[in-house]
Amino acid sequence: MAAPLGRGQVYVISAPSGVGKTTLIGRILTKLPFVRYSVSCTTRPPRSGETPGKDYHFLSREEFQRGIGEGRFLEWAVVHDAYYGTDGDLVNRWLQDGWDVLLDIDVQGARQIRCAHPQSLNIFILPPSMEVLEERLLRRGTESAEQLKRRLAAARDEIMEAPWYDFIIVNDLLHEAAADLESIFRAQRCRRFCQSWRVAPFLTPDDR
Ligand code: ADP
Ligand code: 5GP
Repeated sequence: MAAPLGRGQVYVISAPSGVGKTTLIGRILTKLPFVRYSVSCTTRPPRSGETPGKDYHFLSREEFQRGIGEGRFLEWAVVHDAYYGTDGDLVNRWLQDGWDVLLDIDVQGARQIRCAHPQSLNIFILPPSMEVLEERLLRRGTESAEQLKRRLAAARDEIMEAPWYDFIIVNDLLHEAAADLESIFRAQRCRRFCQSWRVAPFLTPDDR
């Protein structure tokens, strides 16, 4: 699990289900051509409108468990009774090639990434309130009443993990939250250690 990562930057985004993480990520990815989104593997069934290979790689429990045995996942966890995991080979290849990589993973997976790769940047998305979170989940209408109750109950425990993250964004007004999120990626890209190669040519002796 702790294979050395390459040159790109790893970003982890977590949020309780229904906060708007998928919506936000969809908004910013088109504006950040240097970022690759890691499509996770899961054993949960596809929701209507989800496309295999784009939203998730949908695996059977047997396939997923075989993947765990083979060390396929950079991190994995059981979330809301299903397995979820990040394909390690692809992410490592992207990082080696210099891409930044965005992982949309739960708080358990984020802990694994933080321990193994402390240079990762972790972003937590909060809802404006529990009431708004419930409204959003209800309006999305993708969960049964029982699943919805379970996701809301889990939300409080997940939010307890927020202080471990580097950045916290409240997804109240979508355009503001998207701008905040995008600015983290852009600011990181401007850090001295990312841009020092641009300074070097100006420092070479001028032989005119
Ligand atoms: P998540 O990926 O965190 O589970 P989604 O992106 O599926 O959440 O969003 C849950 C629901 O909330 C969707 O119906 C989405 O359109 C809506 N939503 C997301 N962000 C906002 C926002 N800032 N204001 C209002 N509704 C939002
Ligand atoms: P959903 O079923 O709503 O798409 O996702 C449920 C939860 O699983 C979300 O918190 C989401 O971030 C998390 N998740 C999605 N992919 C992964 C993954 O690869 N690893 C882990 N640990 N969690 C994931």
